[in-house]
Amino acid sequence: MIALGIEGTAWSLSIGVVDEEDVIVLENDPYIPKEGGIHPREASQHHSERLPSLLSRVFEKVDKSSIDVVAFSQGPGMGPCLRVVATAARLLAVKLKKPLVGVNHCLAHVEVGRWKTEAKNPVSLYVSGGNSQVIARRGNRYRVFGETLDIGIGNALDKLARHMGLKHPGGPKIEELAKKGKDYYLLPYVVKGMDFSFSGMVTAAQRLYDSGVAREDVAFSFQETAFAMLTEVTERALAYLDLDEVLLVGGVAANKRLQEMLKIMCGDRGAKFYVPPRELAGDNGAMIAYTGLLMYKHGYQTPIEKSYVRPDFRIEDVEVNWD
Ligand code: AMP
Ligand code: MG
Repeated sequence: MIALGIEGTAWSLSIGVVDEEDVIVLENDPYIPKEGGIHPREASQHHSERLPSLLSRVFEKVDKSSIDVVAFSQGPGMGPCLRVVATAARLLAVKLKKPLVGVNHCLAHVEVGRWKTEAKNPVSLYVSGGNSQVIARRGNRYRVFGETLDIGIGNALDKLARHMGLKHPGGPKIEELAKKGKDYYLLPYVVKGMDFSFSGMVTAAQRLYDSGVAREDVAFSFQETAFAMLTEVTERALAYLDLDEVLLVGGVAANKRLQEMLKIMCGDRGAKFYVPPRELAGDNGAMIAYTGLLMYKHGYQTPIEKSYVRPDFRIEDVEVNWD
């Protein structure tokens, strides 16, 4: 069975085609803001302008008639972006006379991670621009055991980078600067129960920079503090749920220092640590295609009248009836 999936919840416009074994095609045409952060209307205009040519590129590589299921990212995400993707997916499903499956974006990150690593029942740390959550399966739902109370870690890194004159996306640039950092400056370490918060520490780090601290040291101090918070909550979820696997997913999963901290924590606890290949860890169409395929095989379909976008779609809202 073959599924096509369209991802477009925010900056990433991506179409993947997968079968049960592997990714067959993955084509990307991301929106990159000229200045500032992601503007929802500009991003959605980008998506609507580029979707037709991206689809053509995909259909040069796979035969249209081989597609069995059309999947799309139904939420969470930016409303205007979601609407473009949902409209394209509906049209494609009707035209190809194939079933449509609306996919939860967070679920797709976790499922593609389980598919492409050895992780079976992990605590997932999902860290991206808009989201930061600690997720694990309990019975027939994925549950969020801890999450950010304000902005996602990726967004926090991007904001700090922008303040220091670096272009979007800032995460990779902060990582490079942090490697050269020497001095650690104290920043607010905000963990409340199982939740965490980043916006106060962004402000504090911006002030450090304004007071003349070198960018390298600001970046280093920020990463050390924020990633320690994420590692602490992930460790607590492991202990509380008595699990022994950690899966790191989302765009920020590319960060080597975050990977290292989690690896050390897992080593100390005798847990295994997994991170999917980079092109499948960040937002991508293959994760939507794969999760759509999985859901379809387990009886899910989204009728057109229920294919409305869900900007606040939570992972807990999906009943999971597969292993
Ligand atoms: P996503 O929304 O999952 O696609 O992730 C996008 C976010 O990942 C952006 O905020 C990027 O700045 C961030 N990101 C990408 N690469 C890295 C990296 N190496 N270190 C930290 N953040 C990163
Ligand atoms: Mg994401």
